[in-house]
Amino acid sequence: MKKLNFIIILIGLITIVIKSNANNIIDQPKTSLIDSAKKVVTDPVCKMKVKAGTSKNAVYNKITYGFCSESCKQKFVAEPSKYIKK
Ligand SMILES: [Zn+2]
Repeated sequence: MKKLNFIIILIGLITIVIKSNANNIIDQPKTSLIDSAKKVVTDPVCKMKVKAGTSKNAVYNKITYGFCSESCKQKFVAEPSKYIKK
C-alpha cells in the first residue's frame, strides 16, 4: 500500500509540473498578442489613430499599416507611396 501511495503522489507532482510548464508556453504568445492589440497606430491616409491588430491593415515595405475603414485601406493599397513619406 505504501508503494501505491508513493506512485499516486508522484503522478500528482508530474501532472502539476506539466501543467505549469504548459501554462508558461501558452502565456507568452498571449501576452504579446495583448501588447500588439493595445498599440495605437496612425492611419496613413486620413491620419486618424487606430488600434493596431485591426482587421483593416495592409503590409507595405515589411511595415504593417492600420486603417480606420475599408475605403482608407483601398486608397492606400492603390497608391502606397502617395501616403508614405520617405
Ligand atoms: Zn482612415
